[in-house]
Amino acid sequence: MAVMPEGLFVNGEWRRTASGGTIELIEPATEKTWASVPSAGKNEVDEVVKNAARAFKEADWANAAPAVRARALYNLAAIIRREAKDLAVMEARNVGKPIGDALWEINAGASCFEYYAGGISRFCGKTIPVDKLGFDYTIQVPIGVVAAIVPWNFPFLMACWKTAPALATGNAVVLKPATLTPLTALALGGLGAEAGIPRGVFQVVSGRGSQIGDYLVSHPLVRKIAFTGETGTGARILKMAADDIKKVSLELGGKSPNIVFADSDVDAAAASSPMSVFANTGQDCCARSRVIVEKSVYDRFLKGFVEATEKLAVGDPLDEATMVGPMVSAGQRERVEGYIEAARKEGGRVLCGGSRMKSPGFYLAPTIVDGLPSTSRVCMEEIFGPVACVMPFETEKEAIALANETQFGLSGSIWTRDLERAIRVARSVESGVLSVNCHSSVHQAAPFGGFKRSGMGRDLGMEAMSLYTEVKNVFISLNYGQ
Ligand code: NAD
Repeated sequence: MAVMPEGLFVNGEWRRTASGGTIELIEPATEKTWASVPSAGKNEVDEVVKNAARAFKEADWANAAPAVRARALYNLAAIIRREAKDLAVMEARNVGKPIGDALWEINAGASCFEYYAGGISRFCGKTIPVDKLGFDYTIQVPIGVVAAIVPWNFPFLMACWKTAPALATGNAVVLKPATLTPLTALALGGLGAEAGIPRGVFQVVSGRGSQIGDYLVSHPLVRKIAFTGETGTGARILKMAADDIKKVSLELGGKSPNIVFADSDVDAAAASSPMSVFANTGQDCCARSRVIVEKSVYDRFLKGFVEATEKLAVGDPLDEATMVGPMVSAGQRERVEGYIEAARKEGGRVLCGGSRMKSPGFYLAPTIVDGLPSTSRVCMEEIFGPVACVMPFETEKEAIALANETQFGLSGSIWTRDLERAIRVARSVESGVLSVNCHSSVHQAAPFGGFKRSGMGRDLGMEAMSLYTEVKNVFISLNYGQ
């Protein structure tokens, strides 16, 4: 595989060994070890952060003409597209995700670099009519060293969502992928150098979050942390960042509603809903795993939802027909099985799935449960696996209350033909990203992020560029000395 990384990507070169030892990667579909990467220890983290701080000051990046950065990022996008097939196979084998999804994500990563390359010349400050004679203007300046920390469910795409706007705005980036899924992020480091990003401006260190996470976050030379992961880890990072007043953006967990009104095209909603929760084997922060259905169409929707779910092609991630692959690891599958067990104990009806599917591979059948109180643990917590909880409602007010009952507020869908209701409910559901009459609405140009314990700050859109900059205000007096 041409783009297979050769180690950590440190200061423009591959580093084949590291002080944290080695991480063996197990292929989720075969349960066999198929690759290994060096695991960074504190030594390497210290080194890359210092390299980044030096590159931020000295390399021709933060102060380069905007067109220079744009050219490098357009180059990187083209190189990603050139290598898309190999990167997709690497991602599919590392994460267990279907190859079609993996290819889409790699190309979406390229689009992300193209978007922010184009954004560089459109990201402007203001001129402000202040109350003295002179000229007042703002500029957005890069923050410095950015630590980008990403999870295992969309390793390449999340890496691009962070690094593209951070690099576009002139920062130096240290990227840390999740322990289990470092390959495509490491590869991105090498591709960045080929694209013309200067040494030290973009480095990638694989490593265990438990060993180096705190050290990276609290390193005094890191000025901004851009994190995607669990709410608990995010809260810990926020506390660690407080002492130094570091800038922090957090994209965290979710338990998103899928609200189906009786006036919608109920059959279309039922047919579309499986992929709103079981895509990426349910390991998706946006998974619409709280399915909230109007009582008068409850049985009809449920029948269609279960039938469509049972038709999902679950299988080998490298087979182009596969829609749902194995889970990422044995541990993650066991965690999810614990929730299914809890659902059974609490009197829930398991309407489909509920068990392992085939061996080898960390497969778990897409599972639909109903009959649980809306406040049960299974209905309230992020399961991060292929489990959907269905619950009925009678009034619009009740539907909104059920949607807002959890601590999260990331995403959600609303199915209705009534335009006024769509607008009303979309205003009332406490989520950062809502889809009406479709099961997903993540767009490169639109802001993405959560309310409540789903996070702070936004990825994507021009909003993300702002979050990698400081605003500087300059006043030029026309009354010398005043
Ligand atoms: P995680 O929090 O366990 O790990 C995320 C990253 O943080 C990994 O790189 C990990 O090594 C690192 N990490 C762990 N401990 C750390 C520490 N103390 N300091 C700094 N970094 C540390 O999350 P995960 O299990 O990899 O991912 C799943 C979670 O991510 C889910 O909760 C999911 O909802 C969330 N997620 C959110 C979004 C979003 O955009 N809101 C997108 C994808 C995933």
